[in-house]
Amino acid sequence: MSEAPYPLGLRLSGLRVVVVGGGTVATRRVPALLNAGADVLLVAPALTPALRAQVDAGRLRWVERRFTPADLDGAWLVQVAIDDPLAAASVSAAAAQRRIFCVRADDRDAATAWTPAVTRHGPVTVAVFGGGDPRRAMTVRDAVRDLLAAGQPLSTDPVAAGIPANVPGGRVALVGAGPGDSELITVKGLRLLTEAEVVVADRLVPGLLLDELRADVELVDASKIPYGPARTQEEINRIIVDRALAGRFVVRLKGGDPYVFGRGGEELLACAAAGVPVTVVPGVTSAVAVPAVAGVPVTHRAVAHEFTVVSGHVAPNSPASLVRWDALAALRGTLVILMGLKNLAAIAATLVAHGRPARTPVAVVQEGTTGAQRTIRSTLDAVAADVTAADLRPPAVVVIGDVVTALTL
Ligand code: SAH
Repeated sequence: MSEAPYPLGLRLSGLRVVVVGGGTVATRRVPALLNAGADVLLVAPALTPALRAQVDAGRLRWVERRFTPADLDGAWLVQVAIDDPLAAASVSAAAAQRRIFCVRADDRDAATAWTPAVTRHGPVTVAVFGGGDPRRAMTVRDAVRDLLAAGQPLSTDPVAAGIPANVPGGRVALVGAGPGDSELITVKGLRLLTEAEVVVADRLVPGLLLDELRADVELVDASKIPYGPARTQEEINRIIVDRALAGRFVVRLKGGDPYVFGRGGEELLACAAAGVPVTVVPGVTSAVAVPAVAGVPVTHRAVAHEFTVVSGHVAPNSPASLVRWDALAALRGTLVILMGLKNLAAIAATLVAHGRPARTPVAVVQEGTTGAQRTIRSTLDAVAADVTAADLRPPAVVVIGDVVTALTL
């Protein structure tokens, strides 16, 4: 069988696929079958822990023994993932008798179907056959994947780009851009960014991400909108909704995660009120990532079993404060404060006044995950003075608790 294969996209939803073998090959093959909705039956005397977890979660059925030909009754496809050539040949024979296509991990020449090298980019699936050379297939696949990831738009036509044709007025994605390092955006966030027609970006969004946008993308810098904070948010909502109603795909790009002190919820509600469909793409929040890159894990075994993320924007004694600082002071775990520099002296004093030990370790990290990152380490009673002395400025994360010294040797 040296002829070129005939490519097909199998729509396996609800159809029985038998996988013979429970080792590493089967472990790698099963997820894509499950992703296609196949009714997977695994036949193997033993399983890897990863496959066992899939079975325990009820995602597939496992027959705990060697293969017998009747296992193929009712199947549409069989994948042979064992090394024993005789056993594999007997699966092939049973499959041929039943006119079921048979993929052979051990012997491609004996197979009646080949699996391609695959990459997925949103709704697009690229499958590559290497003319008998799987490594060539993977090389081509990797090149295509890089091309797609580099922001080559597949099409600006929303239908071709996989956006449902029945959406009349464009759509919006609220995308978390991550804490600062442009590589800390998610794969999905980056893909949507490459597909955007309008990008509305915050001040804290990594500049490099915007640098890479195509010239025809309209970039709105939300930090340059005049008016006060309340009016500005209204104006941002209006810009997002207007562009979407004009039929465009708007990416609202926000620092960190859109819903962590990011006003993403208000933007979602504004879109919903206007009937504009919205997708939310979570991001890596600075609350966890910035301490991490500065050497502070927000939890650590036997040190902290909780972490609490708080906004320090409103002073502790302000009537507008929604934070029970006295209750936070009583906690033993990690406290992460965003937007906390301005009120740091009052916050630290309040925590100590309500019982948090004055010697509790504190780290303050400015512009974490970027080339400009600066960190100071201190204690609760001294941190405000130390921040002033070091001239640390926003954006900065304050992390309080014994985790601050957990990784210092
Ligand atoms: N949605 C964002 C937070 C927005 S509030 C997120 O999930 O990360 C803005 C605050 O986040 C800043 O005042 C600062 O406290 C923190 N912050 C964001 N990026 C930061 C960074 N790179 N380094 C330090 N702090 C950062």
